[in-house]
Amino acid sequence: MSNCAIVGINWGDEGKGRMVDYLTESYDVVVRYQGGGNAGHTVINSQGKFALHLLPSGIFRKGVVNILGNGVALDPESLWIEMRDVISKGVPLTPENLKISERASLLMPWHRELDSLEEARLKDKKYGSTKQGIAPFYADKYQKKTVLAGELFHPEQLKAHLTDLLEWKNLTLTGVYSAQPFSYSMLEEWLNNYCEKIKPFITDTGEFLSEAQKEGKNILFEAQLGSLRDLDYGICPYTTSSNTTAAYAPIGSGLPSAKIENVVGVVKAYSTCVGEGPFVCEMFGDEAEKLRLAGAEYGAKTGRPRRVGPLDIVATRYGVAVQAATEIALTKLDVLSYMDKIPVCTHYLVDGKRTDKFPFPSVLDSASPVIEYFEGWGCDISGARRWEDLPSAAQRYVLFVEENIGCPITYVSVGPERESIIIRK
Ligand code: GDP
Repeated sequence: MSNCAIVGINWGDEGKGRMVDYLTESYDVVVRYQGGGNAGHTVINSQGKFALHLLPSGIFRKGVVNILGNGVALDPESLWIEMRDVISKGVPLTPENLKISERASLLMPWHRELDSLEEARLKDKKYGSTKQGIAPFYADKYQKKTVLAGELFHPEQLKAHLTDLLEWKNLTLTGVYSAQPFSYSMLEEWLNNYCEKIKPFITDTGEFLSEAQKEGKNILFEAQLGSLRDLDYGICPYTTSSNTTAAYAPIGSGLPSAKIENVVGVVKAYSTCVGEGPFVCEMFGDEAEKLRLAGAEYGAKTGRPRRVGPLDIVATRYGVAVQAATEIALTKLDVLSYMDKIPVCTHYLVDGKRTDKFPFPSVLDSASPVIEYFEGWGCDISGARRWEDLPSAAQRYVLFVEENIGCPITYVSVGPERESIIIRK
């Protein structure tokens, strides 16, 4: 038996979805253990191109059981829309291959509304939220003011619980934000239109996972976003509202006894960042536009252009440590093929001093990048399938990154398709 977590090392969008899709071949169960529908994994395989937001990326493999763990922000509305879309493209979703934890908390209709209201109140100080309700959801979860998915099976108690929550939440909506209150009939509509649809998939996934562990099944834990967005270890307050780190996988999945032998950290060959907050190595102007276009760096959920920059060794080394990564998948190396010389941020300058330590969040605004340039390889590498197929300049770049982030690069991805990958093991 072996367990593995696939996590983002940087700001997210590193290509975790394609790595899960690729690696699921050797796993029996894939579990999403944190986050909600506020980011997207893009998966391209023989069944088509899919933008997944909440569904685990193992749903394309026959025989793989996919689980939404108790740590996710379970939004019945967006989940059902996503499920319908995937089913309509010919991917079967049944209670056999998709299981939702009865202990997952439900993202309520007012969470999205509150997210938008708060971003509007913040005006130019906004966090850059995707407005999917994630921050208000987790805030309420920790206040114990949400509903567990399993409560859908207890309608009498659910009604009383929802009535209490509604009364409480309307105080905030009308009092703090002068917004319209929600009514119970709006909640009934939500229950009928979305919660009822996902109900057949809700079960005791903790028990399922314990059994799977006993039977020696291989479990893959799939994270959303990356180290720098982790609630505790990321660039506060520009983080997400959950733990994106591998260490949270046992808790958020529903298998607290899980030992995770391998942590595959996904690093993109350059940096991107969606939303607000310090991004020390950010590129601007034409240089940025070229990289954004080459890498198709537009948000999977929002379509927002992503901020781009060179690979940031300082942030990446920190991300590797936070994730306790045991190996790295370096993705999108092919995107850099158009560059004559390839910039890499090797250090930061803080108060005039060169440092390779990732600073405390408040210091990041005043940090500037130290950039070194590497020779480009000047040819298309998307057909490379073996290490020897890569031009020596590309190999040198990969080896430099490996040495400086302190973790072996075992996969180099050179295209979005399942097979566009070089394995270095
Ligand atoms: P995730 O959230 O970490 O899964 O990342 P996203 O799905 O948001 O972003 C990764 C994007 O890059 C997707 O559109 C992938 O299809 C694409 N992608 C992944 N790996 C590669 C690669 O090696 N080369 C290229 N050109 N695209 C890739």
